[in-house]
Order: sequence, then C-alpha cells, then structure tokens
Amino acid sequence: VELSNQIAAGEVIERPASVVKELVENAIDAHATQILITVKESGMKSIEINDNGDGIEADDVEIAFQPHTTSKISTEHDLFNVLTLGFRGEALASIASVSKLTIVTSTDGKSAIQAKFSGNTLVDKKTFARSKGTTVTVEDLFFNTPARLKYVKSLHTELNKIVDIVDRLAMGHPEISVRLIHDGKDIVWTSGNDNLQQTMAGIYGRTIASHMFEFENSDEDYAIKGYFSKPDTTRSNRSYISLILNGRYIRNYQLTNAVIRGYGSKLMVGRFPIAIIDIKLDPTLVDINVHPTKQEVRLTNEGHIADMISEGIKNKIANQNL
Ligand code: ADP
Ligand code: MG
Repeated sequence: VELSNQIAAGEVIERPASVVKELVENAIDAHATQILITVKESGMKSIEINDNGDGIEADDVEIAFQPHTTSKISTEHDLFNVLTLGFRGEALASIASVSKLTIVTSTDGKSAIQAKFSGNTLVDKKTFARSKGTTVTVEDLFFNTPARLKYVKSLHTELNKIVDIVDRLAMGHPEISVRLIHDGKDIVWTSGNDNLQQTMAGIYGRTIASHMFEFENSDEDYAIKGYFSKPDTTRSNRSYISLILNGRYIRNYQLTNAVIRGYGSKLMVGRFPIAIIDIKLDPTLVDINVHPTKQEVRLTNEGHIADMISEGIKNKIANQNL
C-alpha cells in the first residue's frame, strides 16, 4: 500500500507547487471564502494551507487520507460535471505518503481534531481548538523519496511554480480571498469581493490592474468578459494571458492566440499583453481532458469563441484609440 501510494503520489505530487494546488483546491471545494497559504523556502521546508471552509468531521479525518476516498463523486452525473476540482480522492493520501503532514480541522468552530501523519502513517491524533475550517501543514516534502527530491529544481523555479498556481486559482475564484506569504513576504493577496479587476490588483499590483481595459462579448451560448492591458504594457511571454472557463483556469492555445490577434499590429513583435478572459458556457460544450492534472482543454466551437475574444479586444482598442 505504501509503495502504491508513493507511485500515485509521483504522478500527482511532482513538486511543492503540486501540494499547494491540491490543498488549495480542497479548500475551494470546502466552500472556503478565505485561504491563507504560508510557504517557507519555496515549500521545501513547509507549506501550510489554512481555510475557513466546511472542515472534516473527526470520524472522517483518517478516511480522508485513504487513497481513492472522496466525498465528491456521489452520482455518475458528477463525473461529467466537473464543478468540484478534486474528484480522484487521492491527493491527501499522496501528499501524506511523501511528507510529514499535520491536519487540524473543525466543522463547527467548537471542537477540532489534530492528526499527524508521517509517510502516511498516523502518528498522533488529539482534540484541539480552532475556528471552523481546516489547516494542513506539510513539512519535509519528499523526505522519504530521494528520487523525487532529485527532480526538484532550484528554489527560485519552485517558488515561481507556486506563485503561478496560486495566481491561477485566485483568478478562477475572485469570490475567495487568497493570500500567499513566502518566507514572511506577501506575494499575492486578493480581495475576495468577486471583482475580477480587483483580483488582478491582488496579483499583478494596483498600478497594472487600474490600467486594464474591459470588454464584453456575449451571445446566447457564450458570455465572455475580459480585461486587457494597453498595447504598450506588455511582457516577453504569453504566460500573462489567463483564461478562466466556468470558474476554472484553463490553457488553450487557440484562445490565447485570439487575445494576441485582437491587438493586430498594435503589438510589437515578440511582446505579449497581460490579459484575463472569463468565459462562461454550457458545461456540456467542454471536453475536459481525461488526465486531471492537464489543463489544456478542448471546446466545441473553439473558433467561434476565439473570434468573439479577438473581436471584443479589437473593437475596444479601436473605440478607445489605444
Ligand atoms: P478529493 O479532493 O479528490 O476528494 P482529497 O484526497 O484531496 O480527494 O481529499 C479527500 C477528502 O477529504 C475530500 O473529498 C474532502 O471530503 C476532505 N477534505 C480534504 N481537504 C479538505 C478541506 N480543506 N476542507 C474540508 N474537507 C476536506
Ligand atoms: Mg482534492
């Protein structure tokens, strides 16, 4: 069991950023409105996710750490309706199998339970005190899997990956206040007041966010809203173009290109804008990739959506004389 956990963990938990992703997704699934992520030494020393969500019942804590237990698929229909982010039921088990993990959780803010795991073995469990919600602390990641440890890149690279993941999750959830502190320094802090532009301020800073332009382009099937930077506020790569589909950060090559296309000749060669595009559509028109860690998503009518994005940006640029 130990070995198969570690193999499964290798697939999902590649690096500190994977831990951050899985734990923040769990907090989102648990209806948290505030998520605090505290990371030390790019997550190699510790990663702590604190949420004010539903919590886990004392009796269910150990069950939650069994592989393939999930509270999130109750009907066959749920499998196709990817509204919750987790649906494999193995993240907690996988993370616990390659780290020293402590969870403190309370469903009512009165009684709480603390459980400690080392390499997926429960080593301590006791009652505790905390407000409603859950705190998961992961220390000594990959302490028992030296091969995995070797794949971890420089602390700089690992931190970038963490920031990237947190940015995306925050953008996908403007209704949640997401805060990331690394070695005592605030990196991301979004308002959680369900406003995309203010969420961008918490990620890219107020100056950039306040100079973004807004567009909307909708028809009966698709509602598209976006913010984009002026043609002279650019970056040297595409990674500042974000796509949110039904509240989930996605990658899609054609839609990313549509943003760039919207600028036409206004963009200098080799320069890319900052943009966030929020797309809402009927979930049955989405083909979520079979592999849950892949973000590349295929859409029915991709060309049409791409046109709606580039038209929306193009028209706004023309109207505003940017
Ligand atoms: P999955 O998210 O795929 O269901 P996980 O291993 O990530 O699987 O989590 C297992 C279960 O533990 C979840 O289904 C959920 O019931 C519970 N859980 C995990 N994290 C939290 C959290 N932060 N708040 C409340 N419940 C949680
Ligand atoms: Mg999960």
